[in-house]
Amino acid sequence: MFGPPGAGKGTHSELLVNKYQLTHISTGDLFRKNLGEGTPLGLKAKTFMDQGNLVPDEVVIGMVETAIKDAGHVKGIIFDGFPRTVAQAGKLDELLISLGHPVSGMVSLEVPDEELKNRLKLRAKTSGRVDDQDEDKINNRIKVYYAETQPVIDFYKTQEKYYPIHGVGKIEEIFGMICDTIDKL
Ligand code: ADP
Repeated sequence: MFGPPGAGKGTHSELLVNKYQLTHISTGDLFRKNLGEGTPLGLKAKTFMDQGNLVPDEVVIGMVETAIKDAGHVKGIIFDGFPRTVAQAGKLDELLISLGHPVSGMVSLEVPDEELKNRLKLRAKTSGRVDDQDEDKINNRIKVYYAETQPVIDFYKTQEKYYPIHGVGKIEEIFGMICDTIDKL
């Protein structure tokens, strides 16, 4: 599940988990959990997250590797907020190919910047997330998305695994389009 901050990745991932009995690996959620528990991993990630910058690739990849191992034998996995750099995408490919289950497809939620900013400002009221709280941090996350994360689209386009979905409208309608895409994979 791919898209800029505020695109709806978490919302739709949860709906997919319920509908298809999938396992959800959200790197943002995992970092926040580690932060809450004060683990060394959480402490390592904190300064990057608070500023809306990306956590270094090797930290993220190590964490995802552990999460995949911990998941054990599952029907399928939704990766949410990962891979967020081309280097992470390459590592994920290596990892999943070695396990005999390559990525099936990348569902990319496309939402204009103005809408993203409005959603994140609204979410700030309830999320309690430091990185939702001020405009500079939100703007930085969107800037980082364009600089480091958007190139991941080309990585999957080349593999013919890129499925863009218009992410503005009613949640159930967007979810319907995502399901139509997934059902064809
Ligand atoms: P959002 O997409 O709404 O910005 P996430 O919950 O996906 O939020 O991520 C929150 C923060 O966690 C990011 O701004 C970043 O600092 C860190 N993070 C999450 N996933 C990754 C990743 N794959 N690579 C690097 N940093 C990540």
